[in-house]
Amino acid sequence: MCGIAGFMRYGSAKVQQHELTTLLLNLQVRGRDAAGVAWRTEQKVKLIKAPGPADGFVKLKQFVDIIPEVLDSPYVLLHTRHATHGEPSENRNNHPLMNEKGLIIHNGVVYPEENLSGDSDTDSEQIMLYIQRYGWTGISKLS
Ligand code: GLU
Repeated sequence: MCGIAGFMRYGSAKVQQHELTTLLLNLQVRGRDAAGVAWRTEQKVKLIKAPGPADGFVKLKQFVDIIPEVLDSPYVLLHTRHATHGEPSENRNNHPLMNEKGLIIHNGVVYPEENLSGDSDTDSEQIMLYIQRYGWTGISKLS
């Protein structure tokens, strides 16, 4: 099952680059199909994700280049994926999953009453879509 971590930063002391990458690398044991990070800037929520294990992800230029921005963020979520629904080679299936109203990372498997229309083939996105359509009680429509 997937690896999930995150941090909220209080005050001005920043998380260090090696702490960010170590956290991701330590999550890799929970899933090697993909890795991803979401963070918040002043204006919006951003994410980066890629198929493959975290030890490759942390070396990607696209990830290395945005590390300073991630470390500036007060909120960061990390995910390493062990896929159950949705082919990891299609990056839209990897976590974080985001649409115009929200973002989710998830560990586990859910079965919705019916599949709502989304951007991925994952069960995880269904959690977000159900909450967005029905509010928090929407979770009761998933087993
Ligand atoms: N079922 C989700 C997916 O395939 C999460 C997988 C997991 O927790 O390993 O993306």
